[in-house]
Amino acid sequence: MAEALNANKVHPVTPPKKVPKPKTAAERKARLDKILAGLDKLYPNVTCALHHSNAWELLAATILSAQCTDERVNKVTPGLFKKYPTVAAMAAASQDELAQDIRSTGFFNNKAKSLIGAAKKIMADYKGEVPKSMDELLLVPGAARKTSNVVLGVAFGIASGVVVDTHVQRITQRLDLTKNEEPVKIEQDLIKLLPQDHWIQFSHQVIHFGRGICVARKPKCGECPLDPLCYSADKVLA
Ligand code: SF4
Repeated sequence: MAEALNANKVHPVTPPKKVPKPKTAAERKARLDKILAGLDKLYPNVTCALHHSNAWELLAATILSAQCTDERVNKVTPGLFKKYPTVAAMAAASQDELAQDIRSTGFFNNKAKSLIGAAKKIMADYKGEVPKSMDELLLVPGAARKTSNVVLGVAFGIASGVVVDTHVQRITQRLDLTKNEEPVKIEQDLIKLLPQDHWIQFSHQVIHFGRGICVARKPKCGECPLDPLCYSADKVLA
Protein backbone atom coordinates (compact mmCIF):
# COMPACT_ATOMS: atom_id res chain seq x y z
CA MET A 1 0.00 0.00 0.00
CA ALA A 2 2.96 2.36 0.44
CA GLU A 3 5.41 3.51 -2.18
CA ALA A 4 8.64 5.37 -1.41
CA LEU A 5 10.32 7.78 -3.77
CA ASN A 6 13.73 6.70 -2.52
CA ALA A 7 12.94 3.00 -2.83
CA ASN A 8 16.27 2.16 -4.46
CA LYS A 9 18.39 3.87 -1.84
CA VAL A 10 21.05 1.57 -0.39
CA HIS A 11 21.58 1.91 3.35
CA PRO A 12 25.07 1.33 4.77
CA VAL A 13 25.55 -1.99 6.54
CA THR A 14 26.71 -1.69 10.17
CA PRO A 15 26.81 -4.36 12.88
CA PRO A 16 23.48 -4.28 14.80
CA LYS A 17 23.83 -3.32 18.46
CA LYS A 18 22.28 -4.50 21.69
CA VAL A 19 20.11 -1.66 22.94
CA PRO A 20 18.71 -1.16 26.47
CA LYS A 21 15.01 -0.45 27.01
CA PRO A 22 14.07 3.10 27.96
CA LYS A 23 13.29 3.33 31.68
CA THR A 24 11.35 6.54 32.13
CA ALA A 25 8.42 8.21 30.37
CA ALA A 26 10.77 10.93 29.17
CA GLU A 27 13.14 8.34 27.67
CA ARG A 28 10.23 6.57 25.96
CA LYS A 29 8.99 9.87 24.52
CA ALA A 30 12.49 10.79 23.27
CA ARG A 31 12.80 7.35 21.68
CA LEU A 32 9.43 7.66 19.94
CA ASP A 33 10.40 11.09 18.58
CA LYS A 34 13.59 9.57 17.19
CA ILE A 35 11.67 6.68 15.59
CA LEU A 36 9.29 9.13 13.89
CA ALA A 37 12.15 11.36 12.76
CA GLY A 38 14.02 8.29 11.47
CA LEU A 39 11.01 7.17 9.42
CA ASP A 40 10.53 10.70 8.07
CA LYS A 41 14.15 10.78 7.00
CA LEU A 42 14.02 7.30 5.51
CA TYR A 43 10.75 7.75 3.64
CA PRO A 44 10.01 11.45 3.23
CA ASN A 45 7.66 10.99 0.28
CA VAL A 46 5.63 7.83 0.67
CA THR A 47 2.14 7.47 -0.61
CA CYS A 48 -0.42 4.82 -1.39
CA ALA A 49 0.77 2.43 -4.11
CA LEU A 50 -2.74 1.46 -5.21
CA HIS A 51 -3.47 3.32 -8.43
CA HIS A 52 -6.69 5.30 -8.33
CA SER A 53 -8.14 8.55 -9.58
CA ASN A 54 -10.91 9.09 -7.02
CA ALA A 55 -12.12 7.90 -3.63
CA TRP A 56 -14.37 5.19 -5.10
CA GLU A 57 -11.52 3.68 -7.11
CA LEU A 58 -9.33 3.71 -4.01
CA LEU A 59 -12.04 2.00 -1.97
CA ALA A 60 -12.50 -0.64 -4.68
CA ALA A 61 -8.73 -1.17 -5.05
CA THR A 62 -8.32 -1.47 -1.28
CA ILE A 63 -11.07 -4.10 -1.14
CA LEU A 64 -9.26 -6.00 -3.91
CA SER A 65 -5.91 -5.72 -2.10
CA ALA A 66 -6.94 -8.06 0.74
CA GLN A 67 -4.61 -11.09 0.60
CA CYS A 68 -3.20 -9.79 -2.68
CA THR A 69 -0.22 -7.65 -3.70
CA ASP A 70 -0.67 -4.03 -4.73
CA GLU A 71 1.14 -4.85 -7.99
CA ARG A 72 -1.44 -7.48 -8.87
CA VAL A 73 -4.32 -5.13 -7.99
CA ASN A 74 -2.77 -2.40 -10.15
CA LYS A 75 -2.76 -4.80 -13.10
CA VAL A 76 -6.46 -5.57 -12.66
CA THR A 77 -7.95 -2.14 -11.88
CA PRO A 78 -7.32 -0.30 -15.20
CA GLY A 79 -9.50 -2.78 -17.12
CA LEU A 80 -11.96 -3.01 -14.25
CA PHE A 81 -12.53 0.74 -14.01
CA LYS A 82 -12.83 0.95 -17.78
CA LYS A 83 -15.53 -1.72 -17.78
CA TYR A 84 -17.30 -0.31 -14.70
CA PRO A 85 -16.41 3.40 -14.82
CA THR A 86 -18.78 4.63 -12.09
CA VAL A 87 -20.20 3.56 -8.75
CA ALA A 88 -23.56 3.12 -10.51
CA ALA A 89 -22.00 0.83 -13.13
CA MET A 90 -20.44 -1.32 -10.40
CA ALA A 91 -23.74 -1.45 -8.50
CA ALA A 92 -25.40 -2.85 -11.63
CA ALA A 93 -22.67 -5.44 -12.34
CA SER A 94 -23.37 -9.16 -12.55
CA GLN A 95 -21.65 -10.79 -9.56
CA ASP A 96 -20.53 -13.84 -11.55
CA GLU A 97 -19.07 -11.74 -14.34
CA LEU A 98 -17.36 -9.34 -11.92
CA ALA A 99 -15.86 -12.31 -10.04
CA GLN A 100 -14.22 -13.45 -13.28
CA ASP A 101 -12.97 -9.91 -13.99
CA ILE A 102 -11.13 -9.82 -10.63
CA ARG A 103 -10.29 -13.54 -10.47
CA SER A 104 -6.50 -13.03 -10.35
CA THR A 105 -6.73 -11.04 -7.08
CA GLY A 106 -7.93 -14.13 -5.17
CA PHE A 107 -11.05 -14.56 -3.00
CA PHE A 108 -12.85 -13.25 -6.09
CA ASN A 109 -16.39 -14.35 -5.17
CA ASN A 110 -16.28 -12.56 -1.80
CA LYS A 111 -14.58 -9.52 -3.29
CA ALA A 112 -17.16 -9.28 -6.11
CA LYS A 113 -19.93 -9.44 -3.52
CA SER A 114 -18.24 -6.70 -1.45
CA LEU A 115 -17.66 -4.44 -4.46
CA ILE A 116 -21.27 -4.66 -5.63
CA GLY A 117 -22.55 -4.33 -2.06
CA ALA A 118 -20.35 -1.27 -1.47
CA ALA A 119 -21.46 0.35 -4.72
CA LYS A 120 -25.14 -0.31 -3.97
CA LYS A 121 -24.82 1.12 -0.45
CA ILE A 122 -23.03 4.24 -1.70
CA MET A 123 -25.67 4.76 -4.40
CA ALA A 124 -28.57 4.18 -2.02
CA ASP A 125 -27.39 6.14 1.03
CA TYR A 126 -24.68 8.56 -0.06
CA LYS A 127 -25.84 9.79 -3.49
CA GLY A 128 -23.04 7.94 -5.24
CA GLU A 129 -20.25 9.66 -3.24
CA VAL A 130 -17.90 7.80 -0.92
CA PRO A 131 -18.70 9.05 2.60
CA LYS A 132 -16.06 10.96 4.52
CA SER A 133 -16.55 9.66 8.05
CA MET A 134 -15.44 6.46 9.74
CA ASP A 135 -18.94 5.78 11.12
CA GLU A 136 -20.48 5.95 7.64
CA LEU A 137 -17.71 4.04 5.92
CA LEU A 138 -17.97 1.19 8.41
CA LEU A 139 -21.53 0.63 7.14
CA VAL A 140 -20.25 0.05 3.59
CA PRO A 141 -19.80 -3.65 2.73
CA GLY A 142 -16.10 -4.58 2.46
CA ALA A 143 -14.89 -1.52 4.39
CA ALA A 144 -13.63 -2.46 7.85
CA ARG A 145 -11.42 -0.10 9.86
CA LYS A 146 -8.25 -0.69 7.84
CA THR A 147 -9.92 -0.03 4.48
CA SER A 148 -11.81 2.96 5.88
CA ASN A 149 -8.60 4.46 7.31
CA VAL A 150 -6.89 4.05 3.92
CA VAL A 151 -9.74 5.79 2.09
CA LEU A 152 -10.13 8.61 4.62
CA GLY A 153 -6.39 9.22 4.91
CA VAL A 154 -5.35 8.91 1.27
CA ALA A 155 -8.40 10.13 -0.64
CA PHE A 156 -9.53 12.85 1.77
CA GLY A 157 -6.50 13.60 3.97
CA ILE A 158 -8.59 12.86 7.07
CA ALA A 159 -6.60 11.37 9.96
CA SER A 160 -9.33 9.20 11.45
CA GLY A 161 -7.05 6.47 12.77
CA VAL A 162 -3.96 4.46 11.89
CA VAL A 163 -3.93 1.78 9.18
CA VAL A 164 -2.77 -1.48 10.77
CA ASP A 165 -1.82 -4.14 8.25
CA THR A 166 0.51 -7.09 8.74
CA HIS A 167 3.66 -4.90 8.44
CA VAL A 168 2.40 -2.29 10.92
CA GLN A 169 1.34 -5.11 13.25
CA ARG A 170 4.76 -6.80 13.19
CA ILE A 171 6.92 -3.68 13.30
CA THR A 172 5.06 -1.81 16.03
CA GLN A 173 5.45 -4.95 18.13
CA ARG A 174 9.17 -5.18 17.32
CA LEU A 175 9.62 -1.51 18.19
CA ASP A 176 7.63 -2.04 21.41
CA LEU A 177 5.03 0.57 20.47
CA THR A 178 2.34 -1.96 21.37
CA LYS A 179 2.07 -5.21 23.29
CA ASN A 180 -1.21 -6.15 21.60
CA GLU A 181 -1.75 -8.70 18.85
CA GLU A 182 -5.12 -7.62 17.43
CA PRO A 183 -5.09 -4.87 14.80
CA VAL A 184 -7.96 -2.95 16.43
CA LYS A 185 -6.14 -2.85 19.79
CA ILE A 186 -2.83 -1.98 18.12
CA GLU A 187 -4.55 0.90 16.35
CA GLN A 188 -5.88 2.19 19.67
CA ASP A 189 -2.36 2.04 21.15
CA LEU A 190 -0.95 3.95 18.17
CA ILE A 191 -3.70 6.56 18.31
CA LYS A 192 -2.75 7.23 21.93
CA LEU A 193 0.98 7.22 21.23
CA LEU A 194 1.43 9.05 17.94
CA PRO A 195 0.81 12.73 17.27
CA GLN A 196 -2.28 12.95 15.01
CA ASP A 197 -0.33 14.62 12.21
CA HIS A 198 1.68 11.38 11.88
CA TRP A 199 -1.29 8.97 11.75
CA ILE A 200 -1.59 8.84 7.95
CA GLN A 201 2.09 8.97 7.02
CA PHE A 202 3.25 6.58 9.75
CA SER A 203 1.47 3.59 8.22
CA HIS A 204 2.77 4.26 4.70
CA GLN A 205 6.29 4.59 6.08
CA VAL A 206 6.10 1.47 8.23
CA ILE A 207 4.59 -0.59 5.40
CA HIS A 208 7.48 0.38 3.18
CA PHE A 209 9.98 -0.24 5.99
CA GLY A 210 8.41 -3.68 6.45
CA ARG A 211 8.78 -4.54 2.80
CA GLY A 212 12.34 -3.31 2.43
CA ILE A 213 14.22 -3.53 5.75
CA CYS A 214 12.29 -4.87 8.74
CA VAL A 215 11.01 -7.83 6.74
CA ALA A 216 9.10 -10.63 8.44
CA ARG A 217 11.80 -13.29 8.25
CA LYS A 218 15.37 -12.25 8.97
CA PRO A 219 15.02 -8.47 9.25
CA LYS A 220 17.93 -6.58 7.70
CA CYS A 221 19.09 -5.08 11.00
CA GLY A 222 22.55 -4.28 9.65
CA GLU A 223 20.96 -1.85 7.19
CA CYS A 224 18.41 -0.47 9.62
CA PRO A 225 18.64 3.19 10.63
CA LEU A 226 16.38 2.42 13.63
CA ASP A 227 18.90 -0.12 14.97
CA PRO A 228 20.11 2.20 17.80
CA LEU A 229 16.49 2.38 19.05
CA CYS A 230 15.50 -1.27 18.64
CA TYR A 231 15.68 -3.88 21.40
CA SER A 232 13.42 -6.42 19.67
CA ALA A 233 13.94 -10.12 20.37
CA ASP A 234 13.64 -10.55 16.58
CA LYS A 235 16.73 -8.43 16.02
CA VAL A 236 19.41 -10.23 14.04
CA LEU A 237 22.65 -9.43 15.84
CA ALA A 238 25.95 -9.87 14.01
S1 SF4 B 1 15.24 -4.19 11.03
FE1 SF4 B 1 13.53 -4.30 12.49
S2 SF4 B 1 14.24 -5.75 14.08
FE2 SF4 B 1 16.04 -5.07 12.93
S3 SF4 B 1 16.88 -3.32 14.07
FE3 SF4 B 1 15.48 -2.50 12.50
S4 SF4 B 1 13.52 -2.31 13.53
FE4 SF4 B 1 14.77 -3.68 14.78
